[in-house]
Amino acid sequence: MSKCLRPHHGMCFQFYEGKGYSADFTDHMGRVIKELETDPEQNVVLKAETDIVCENCPNNEGGVCTTQDKVLRYDKAVLRACGLVDGSEISFAKFIGLVKDKIIGAGIRGNICGDCSWDYICREKE
Ligand code: SF4
Repeated sequence: MSKCLRPHHGMCFQFYEGKGYSADFTDHMGRVIKELETDPEQNVVLKAETDIVCENCPNNEGGVCTTQDKVLRYDKAVLRACGLVDGSEISFAKFIGLVKDKIIGAGIRGNICGDCSWDYICREKE
């Protein structure tokens, strides 16, 4: 079965350097990225809801993100920029390629998630 991925996590993966909300969260996120990168042709289902990354997040309160308004805004903007819709199924490699081209390469990352608490990490690297 295809893994479910929040669209904006495709951006978080780009510059991830092991920092996050807790050690448990970052260990888990590192494992998720490794699993996806090991088999990049696997399909993921893009859904604007809690996903495999959110599983170990302290901000995940019973399946709902405590910053729901903000992350939904990011999710919608990523889908729009990539020409995808909620529920799109696509290979992980293709999705990451779209994020790279249509968002990072196009220089619009900051417009989408510039108010994220981790923005400084991505800003340094893009
Ligand atoms: S629960 Fe919210 S803050 Fe935590 S990983 Fe998911 S979207 Fe991000």
